[in-house]
Amino acid sequence: MNIVISGFGVAGATAAEEARKKNPKAYITLFSKEKDLFYYRMRLPEVVSGELSPDKVIAHPLSWYNDRNIEVRLGESLAEVNPAEKIVRGSMGSRQTYDRILLAVGAESNRPPFPGDKLGHIFAVRSLNDAWTLHFAAKGQKHAVLIGGGILGLELGCALTKLGLTITVLERDSRVLPRQTTPGSAELLRRKLAAMGVEFVLGAEADRFEGSGKVENVVLKDGRDLPANLVLISAGVQPNLELARVLDLKVDRAIVVNEFMETSLPDVYAAGDCAQFPGAVGGLWTTSRQQALVAGVNIAAADPAERKAYVPQPPSNTLKVAGIDLVCAGNLDPDNTMTGIEAVTDDIYRKVVIDGENRLAGFTNVGTTNGNRELNAAVMAKKVLSAETIKGLAQPDFDFSTL
Ligand SMILES: Cc1cc2nc3c(=O)[nH]c(=O)nc-3n(C[C@H](O)[C@H](O)[C@H](O)COP(=O)(O)OP(=O)(O)OC[C@H]3O[C@@H](n4cnc5c(N)ncnc54)[C@H](O)[C@@H]3O)c2cc1C
Repeated sequence: MNIVISGFGVAGATAAEEARKKNPKAYITLFSKEKDLFYYRMRLPEVVSGELSPDKVIAHPLSWYNDRNIEVRLGESLAEVNPAEKIVRGSMGSRQTYDRILLAVGAESNRPPFPGDKLGHIFAVRSLNDAWTLHFAAKGQKHAVLIGGGILGLELGCALTKLGLTITVLERDSRVLPRQTTPGSAELLRRKLAAMGVEFVLGAEADRFEGSGKVENVVLKDGRDLPANLVLISAGVQPNLELARVLDLKVDRAIVVNEFMETSLPDVYAAGDCAQFPGAVGGLWTTSRQQALVAGVNIAAADPAERKAYVPQPPSNTLKVAGIDLVCAGNLDPDNTMTGIEAVTDDIYRKVVIDGENRLAGFTNVGTTNGNRELNAAVMAKKVLSAETIKGLAQPDFDFSTL
């Protein structure tokens, strides 16, 4: 059996490993647009800050793949797929036949167009190369403007503070981390970040960049000017859909897949940030890995009866910034359709969300790690809580061993 995998992020690398375990004899070829071996993308903020050198985030050396007889074509994108003849072509001209293909091509940073966006010192970070480039560009600079106040942007922004920069975060929403916080937790987080040199301009949008050669100013839509030696754009991601469009796959926000990670075209599968499965939230490492564990088995299974099905888990997010604890999981009920129980002190904010059947649907916890493990497990298990427990969760010092 000939298996072709396109993309060498967590989805492609995990699927290759699983496919090999499932089928020791299959030919497995991995096309990778990037020149680096599979690395821990989640750790790129530490590369930006200089705490880790690029080689420290690489998961395995090339010999690891050679030992498993997985052919890795670094720096060669999958350029064409001919489903009628079952042939693929790589960007460096290689051709080969396939039985099954996995598209694990991930996503790219959004770069909304702004007047002046061709000036120097404007960055977005998706790849190891982007992170290392930003590390060198930021050294010796004083101030950065970060466009977009999501988790990823804040982690990268805090990484820049470790190089001595102060940061102004420009966020369209009226609060910090709009998707992961409630108004209460956002305010606590804003105070903690301010103490680290990260200031916020909320409810504001960039209009254009100005400077001569390099960026010097971000001009806001309301006319205000923010001086900047460097701009970092963190405005979400967009899935890589070129191949899917050429193949005329069913595409919505990303490539639509069923529980077997099959696309609308026979023998073509998709997993990770480029895939869309109802009920699953994309853009997360664990989601991509879980989908790839399923896809890897299915692309290598000789008998359809051996296929695995993907079951989405509630999403969970952690802000990985030293000194600031923020974890959230499941449904934070932004529209207040369920019961929200808050526990608040000067340094701690916790909200748990209970659905109509008294199940723990989600939580956010800021300023403490106490309860994260137990709450996370209860959200994943959709645990039904007693009336007494629900009442007790409003106490900041709730004993989580009773959960
Ligand atoms: C800085 C940063 C920090 C993050 N932190 C977290 C975190 O803390 N927690 C979390 O859950 N998630 C985090 N994420 C998101 C997480 O890393 C992604 O959800 C995950 O990497 C997606 O994996 P993937 O394999 O689907 O796609 P990707 O990691 O995007 O890999 C896809 C690969 O395919 C390549 N490719 C594209 N087109 C082709 C082609 N035609 N042929 C061959 N190769 C191609 C791409 O270049 C890329 O190398 C972070 C992301 C970034 C950028």
